[in-house]
Amino acid sequence: MDAIGQWQAETRGASARLGTRFRIFPQPSFIPGYEQPETVWISTPPDRIGPGPADRRMYVIDPVLAKAPYEFPYLPPYAGACNPPAIAGPDGHFDHLDPASREFQAAHVFACSRRVLDICESYLGREIPWFFQPTYERLEIVPRLPWGNAQSGFGFLEMGEDEARGTTQPFALNFDAVAHEMGHLVIFGVMGLPRREPPHEYYAYHEAVADFIALISLLHFDTALDLLLRRTRGNLLVVNELDRFAELSDEKQVRLFSHSLKMGEVSSEVHDLSKPFGAALFDMLIEIYQALLFERGLSDLHPSDFWNLRTDYSGGELEDQLSLSLGSYQSRHFAFKSALADARDIVGEILVRSWSGLEPDRLDYQAAAAAMVAAAGEGRGGMFTDRIEDNFAWREII
Ligand SMILES: [Zn+2]
Repeated sequence: MDAIGQWQAETRGASARLGTRFRIFPQPSFIPGYEQPETVWISTPPDRIGPGPADRRMYVIDPVLAKAPYEFPYLPPYAGACNPPAIAGPDGHFDHLDPASREFQAAHVFACSRRVLDICESYLGREIPWFFQPTYERLEIVPRLPWGNAQSGFGFLEMGEDEARGTTQPFALNFDAVAHEMGHLVIFGVMGLPRREPPHEYYAYHEAVADFIALISLLHFDTALDLLLRRTRGNLLVVNELDRFAELSDEKQVRLFSHSLKMGEVSSEVHDLSKPFGAALFDMLIEIYQALLFERGLSDLHPSDFWNLRTDYSGGELEDQLSLSLGSYQSRHFAFKSALADARDIVGEILVRSWSGLEPDRLDYQAAAAAMVAAAGEGRGGMFTDRIEDNFAWREII
């Protein structure tokens, strides 16, 4: 090989180690600030991604005819005719596709799914298997069905269409929706399936945690971190896109993470029951973020005073008190951003690592909370163990 040939081969090798470029809308493009997709790298190198896209863990098929949602015993693989797959550009990447095309939707769902898997595997420190292996080695992704819902299940993840805003929006372009479904799959992958009927709270836990994985994953986008912090000037208790999540199952209401609901105030309906647990996870994120700001001299509010403030004040008054404590945000954006990224990763690690200590057959809120406290004690979240317990206690979970 001559020098130029060798240089080209080395460049290709170096670029393969970076993974493959895709473009993702971190939030639906009708939300101000999110009009343009963000370029991300997913872990699979270009020479291991085929048309679809498809790699070793997942593949996309786009049916020509209106496909019915999978429901046992109707399961993958899809046998009907498919539209042409999304194909990489000449450089092996998928960031050239027109956002208005079907191919972009296929690449978008693939990239969102792969990114959530990459993030959770990075917290766990190992590959997360599919719960449906070895029946299926790969996840089948259907980017678009004429159906007002989205679901994941035995071998599949499929996205319908959202009619809630009066126009048809494909769930394929909704990162939260894809990430929520992937959330269910990664929980099953690490914990396994229950072998007998689990406690009722198990189902509520799944919904709360799937939503929270979507939130943690959203916080891996620069666009999201920058917009969130700049809009709120670092005060994350201001209502914003962080706690606004579209309900994607039957009810389609908007759920908020940031609320004061305790166990005694919700019904046993699964989505209602999921709220106190989801909110406790959100509280942990905010508390750890606040503690890091204090530790780094970015806020003069001691973590224990933050706790008192949250219980003594609410609404606008709480926001004002917090804003006062934050001092000058303007010149310290990147320091705040780093604190939020660290808080995100500490909570993400605690959550994902708590799964290894949980038995799905016996998983209720008590067990789930205890596993998180234990996981915090074993990792770098150790200094927050008391705060995590207090949060669960305040929500009447333990
Ligand atoms: Zn769900």
